[in-house]
Amino acid sequence: MATRTRSCVVIAASRVREVVARGRSALRRGADLVEVRLDFLRGLTPPGLDRLAAALGRHGVATFRSPSQGGQRRGRRMEWLRRAAGSGFGFIDCEWATDRGDLSSLRSAARAGRTRLIVSHHFSQPSSIASIRSMLTRCCEAGDIGKVAVATPTVAWALKLLSLARAFARERKKFVLIGVGEHGVITRALAEEIGCEIQYLRPERSEGVAPGQLTLSEWSRIRGRGGKILTGLIGRPVGHSVSVAMQNAAFEATGLRGLYLPFEVKSRREMAALLDEPLVRGVNVTMPFKELVIPLLDRCDAAAVEAGAVNTVAIRRGRKVGYNTDGVGFRRALDSLRLGRVERALIVGAGGAARAVIAQLSRGGAREILVTNRTPSRARRLARRADGRAKAIPLSAVSAGGPFDLVVNCTPMGTQGRPYRELLPLRVFRSGVTLIDLVYNPSVTRTMERAARRGARTMGGLEMLVQQGARSFEIWTGRDAPIRVMRNAARRALREAVG
Ligand code: NAP
Repeated sequence: MATRTRSCVVIAASRVREVVARGRSALRRGADLVEVRLDFLRGLTPPGLDRLAAALGRHGVATFRSPSQGGQRRGRRMEWLRRAAGSGFGFIDCEWATDRGDLSSLRSAARAGRTRLIVSHHFSQPSSIASIRSMLTRCCEAGDIGKVAVATPTVAWALKLLSLARAFARERKKFVLIGVGEHGVITRALAEEIGCEIQYLRPERSEGVAPGQLTLSEWSRIRGRGGKILTGLIGRPVGHSVSVAMQNAAFEATGLRGLYLPFEVKSRREMAALLDEPLVRGVNVTMPFKELVIPLLDRCDAAAVEAGAVNTVAIRRGRKVGYNTDGVGFRRALDSLRLGRVERALIVGAGGAARAVIAQLSRGGAREILVTNRTPSRARRLARRADGRAKAIPLSAVSAGGPFDLVVNCTPMGTQGRPYRELLPLRVFRSGVTLIDLVYNPSVTRTMERAARRGARTMGGLEMLVQQGARSFEIWTGRDAPIRVMRNAARRALREAVG
């Protein structure tokens, strides 16, 4: 019969009273187990341990990590673990590396107390799959459950761990295999599907002893084998992205069992491996992979073909379809301004975003579209590709090329933390002109400030980001996107990112 993965909230607090309160709260909120990190407790006494055991009972997991395995302090580890086994904890967790000489006595203590033994090992550095396999085998043989956590340097590495876990599940071993760190989150998200016995969780967003742990509420949302909507953002870097908060808020609001993870990948090969993982349902793709992803797909929709770039992939039964939602996102953002028909538009930049914007403006009936770029040849090439719908002009000729009623910045100029240089002369901006700056961090860019001072109307890139994300959500789920929830989550994430 398939394993039911138990959820286990890890409490690392220094006082027994606090552990009891937080542990009870986690159990009330649906956790199956609470792991107490005894090495975090200050001044632990036998009555203190008994209080913990009485409060948590068979839901309690007693762990005393040694410093070499990431623990907080030395102490009479064996004594405490044996005592925990005899006082009613459901599980005790010991270490292969430190405790293997004491395993048989621990096992006897555990049996006598009807406590189960988890034998674990933590690789703080990435290790070979062969040594992880042999360590997990040893841990499984020595305990009721074998557990290995391993520092995970890349997403590709995490995918190898998934394969290893599946092999253990096929052999009906009772195990936990965790990829530690941000690249390993996928091993946690798919804990049930790969047959892990226990899912270790953070109680709340800000707390946690192991990087990459999901929170209890995230896990409660997606829990259940099969039918999970695992999505994420592929790019390099992706740590700054607000899409993670925005898409997860959308899953939460719609009650779907979906999760959106950041996947920082280093190469096309790594991206290909991720797209081949059968349980990934869809991804967004950002720089520098928007074009590189295309050869990996079975098909692209018309917008992606037109833009020559893909920012959304949906995967059904192994078939990968590429979409470009930037154009729709831009159009929905533009429509929200109710400008009426655009007469003369100036597009700054000649990359993928500019291409999607030009296609939308031309479809919307813009009378004239001019495109300018730091590298003039790219602007000319883009204009040619736009089949006469756009004309290239050099940056130096922009003043004379006006007036414009719409200006769209499709370059990263103005992005937080990057050097700023004014690309456009001030006289481009005046009352009656609308500037849409695709940069969304900061929410008001320096170009927007300059334009507003001259009486122009301005919009930052956040609305487009929300709208393109909403369209991705609709593609993956077939459900209407909760736009307001997504907008609020994106704004909040942006505020937090800015500090
Ligand atoms: P891309 O394909 O890499 O194109 C970048 C464009 O910006 C090129 O035209 C490049 O000029 C120009 N550029 C880059 N650095 C510059 C600088 N220092 N000075 C002047 N021009 C510079 O990127 P993309 O996908 O089109 O994205 C462009 C921007 O739009 C990015 O900031 C992206 O985050 C933003 N964007 C926002 C949304 C949204 O939803 N808000 C959606 C898509 C994109 P060269 O040709 O001379 O290199």
